[in-house]
Amino acid sequence: MSVIDFHAHCYPGDVWPKVDAAIVKNYNKKAESPGTVEGLSKAMNVSGISLSVVQPVANQGKHVDSVNKWIESIRDSHNDLLFFGAMHPEAQEPYQAVCDLARKGFRGIKMQPNAGKYYPNSEECFKIYQALSENDMILMTHAGDELLPYSPLYAHPKNFVSVFESFPDLRVVLAHLGGYKTWQDLDMVLGYKNVYYDTAMSCEIGDEEFRSLVERIGIDKVLFGTDFPWYNPKKAVDYTRKVLGEKADKVFCVNPRGLLGLE
Ligand SMILES: [Zn+2]
Repeated sequence: MSVIDFHAHCYPGDVWPKVDAAIVKNYNKKAESPGTVEGLSKAMNVSGISLSVVQPVANQGKHVDSVNKWIESIRDSHNDLLFFGAMHPEAQEPYQAVCDLARKGFRGIKMQPNAGKYYPNSEECFKIYQALSENDMILMTHAGDELLPYSPLYAHPKNFVSVFESFPDLRVVLAHLGGYKTWQDLDMVLGYKNVYYDTAMSCEIGDEEFRSLVERIGIDKVLFGTDFPWYNPKKAVDYTRKVLGEKADKVFCVNPRGLLGLE
C-alpha cells in the first residue's frame, strides 16, 4: 500500500533559510529537516511516502507569480511530487490567475488566510472559488489557529461556512482536521459533501482525541498530511498507523487517490 502525503511544503534552496528563520521567529518552530525539494524527497524515502502533494504558500499577493513560476520550472522533473499552486486574494486578477493555473494542469491551489491576513469569506476570495469551481480544481486551505495563538483568527472554521454553502460542488480540504486548535468548533464545518480534512500537525493531540476527531468527521473524508518540514513524516506515518490500525489505508491511500482521481 502506498502512502500519499496531502500536505507538504518545500522551497527553493536560496529561499529556504529565510523561511526557516521567519517560522522560528513568528511561531518558535524549528524545522527538523531542510525544507527543500531534496529534503522532502529524502524524508519521503525514509517514511515510505510515494507521493507528496506540495502546498505552496504566498503570504502576499505580489509573491503569487514568482512562487508559481518556480513550481512550473521544476515540477516536470519530480514524478513523486504533485504541486498545487499558490494563491492570494491580492494577486493580480485572481480569477484569471486561477484559470491560468488550470490551463497549465494544476490540480488545486493552497491558501493560508492567517499568514496572508485575509478572510476566506471575502468577495475577492469568492472570485478565486468561482474560478476553482469552473475549472474543477481543489482548494486546500489552512484552517484554525497557529502554533502560537493568532489574532485576528482569519481562518476560524466559522469563516468557511458561507464558502461551502455558496460553492457546494467545490472540493475543499480543510487542513489540520478542520481547524488547528479550534476543534471545539469542528461541528461548524461538518456535514458538507465535498469537504475533506487533513491530519497535518495533528498527531500530538492525544490518541483518543485524534481517533475521536476522525470518527466525528468520518474516515472517508480524512486525508493523511504531514506539514513537512515542520513535522517529521516518519513519525506521522507511524502514529497514524498505530492509532487507526487497518483503517489507516483509507487515510493514506484510498481517500487521496479518490479525491485526485488517480488510478
Ligand atoms: Zn502547512
